[in-house]
Amino acid sequence: MMKPRLTLIGAGPGDPELITLKAVNALRKADVVLYDALANSVLLEYCSPECELIYVGKRGHTRSISQDSLNFLIVEKAYEKGHVVRLKGGDPFIFGRGNEEINFARERGVETAFVPGISSIQALGAADIPLTSRGFADGFWVITGHKADGSLSKDLALAAQSSATVVILMGMSRLSRIAELFVEGGRGDTPAAIVQNASTNYQKTGIGKAKDLVKIAQSNDLKNPALIVIGDVINSLRSDKLVQFQSVEICS
Ligand code: SAH
Repeated sequence: MMKPRLTLIGAGPGDPELITLKAVNALRKADVVLYDALANSVLLEYCSPECELIYVGKRGHTRSISQDSLNFLIVEKAYEKGHVVRLKGGDPFIFGRGNEEINFARERGVETAFVPGISSIQALGAADIPLTSRGFADGFWVITGHKADGSLSKDLALAAQSSATVVILMGMSRLSRIAELFVEGGRGDTPAAIVQNASTNYQKTGIGKAKDLVKIAQSNDLKNPALIVIGDVINSLRSDKLVQFQSVEICS
């Protein structure tokens, strides 16, 4: 008897090498894969030739099919074919609605498993931006710039007053309001960066101050998928060229 199963896996932030071995093994054993735009489609090459591949998403928070239809599709395919793998960009439990898909499947008798992914927030390191750094930031906030009802999270105003690094996902359409909140929180002059396509060959970064977020995006032509980062960590890595290390000739 075929057992209906769902494995929810993180694809990593975009660079196809930033997927875990466990996630690759799940792709190899999948009967059906449902994948999003943010997951690099090169990863589908790990699937067997018999595996059914279904594209289910547009970029960002807009979907080509509704979350409800997607949940039903997962369950339907699990009962029809067996092992469904749901491939999502970054980590499925960081603004990925992974819990909704897992709950829906569990309620209908589908066995579930979860494989974490490297989130885009961690890929900021590829743009020389650590999330914490001694002397620069003791912690970090990760907040959505776009709640389900389209409003801005109240936590953003709180984060704007803290000295921690603030990372905002899905915030590109709210740049001017985010900048205002930081000015109101007394942190308008804090270093800010916008990083598009972090970890990929198309990575692009703009740097400035929190109060100038709109200008940073415009002058560097930055668009989704992009992360907004505000905090002193932006200056914590040296950007000057390293002096070439000279080996000393040892005379005997
Ligand atoms: N689960 C994902 C986030 C999904 S929400 C993760 O862990 O990364 C979608 C948002 O993620 C985008 O609007 C953008 O803000 C961010 N994002 C995803 N991949 C990105 C990338 N490679 N570069 C910059 N931002 C990215």
